[in-house]
Amino acid sequence: MGGATRRRRVSAVRLALGLLLVSACSGPALPPTSGPFAERVEERERMVVEQIEARGVRGPAVLAALRRVPRHHFMPESVRPRAYFDRALPIGHGQTISQPFIVASMTEQLGLRPDSRVLEIGTGSGYQAAVLAEIVAEVYTIEIVEPLAERASATLARLGYPNVRVRAGDGYRGWPEAAPFDAIVVTAAPERIPQTLVDQLAPGGRMVIPVGGRGDQDLLRLVREGDTVREETLYDVLFVPMTGEIQEP
Ligand code: SAH
Repeated sequence: MGGATRRRRVSAVRLALGLLLVSACSGPALPPTSGPFAERVEERERMVVEQIEARGVRGPAVLAALRRVPRHHFMPESVRPRAYFDRALPIGHGQTISQPFIVASMTEQLGLRPDSRVLEIGTGSGYQAAVLAEIVAEVYTIEIVEPLAERASATLARLGYPNVRVRAGDGYRGWPEAAPFDAIVVTAAPERIPQTLVDQLAPGGRMVIPVGGRGDQDLLRLVREGDTVREETLYDVLFVPMTGEIQEP
């Protein structure tokens, strides 16, 4: 009887410690029970397991961000039923929201830390910006199609991402007032790497960018090391072209 009581007491202490540990570790990341972040949680879980983890993305912060951001809020009603499909989807103005795996993989390649400052060129729907904002302190994002910039900005504000700044304009010249950046992600494809953006990378900073013409694009990763920039080709991709100044002869 005494033994059973002690065991019960020991397990009660363990339970209390366990709960304490769980609440200390999870903090604000506890799953919400209502609101946009509580919607379609199972579809997002399946998306992460089947499309992202299965293809080798392992970073815990990246996976947690993909599990959390309600992707369906970043697209027009008409395509929302397909929000968690393994593909890019139209968002209007001839533009697309990237495939979930591509967003995850590009984010992972940026090697982000919680204190990183990130620049995105090609806000589109704002989804990639939200994923970044889950992981890092500050996100700057530029979109050349003004109505898309406005819509993304409104979506991000509604969902509560005060750490994202959206600017309407040509991303070719980057965001000099906020430079340098620890990471730059370009989500539209230029035919050559814009040197203006390379110049805004901090020492050790990384840029992930699709480069090439239609049907012939490679995803590149650049790492700034002192005065040199190391360049690696990751894999083939298909992005909309980067427009604006980069297309001028
Ligand atoms: N990251 C987006 C997907 C973007 S699609 C998302 O998560 O939804 C690429 C976007 O880049 C398009 O919206 C396109 O209008 C934009 N774009 C193309 N050229 C650009 C430029 N020079 N500067 C800024 N945005 C550009």
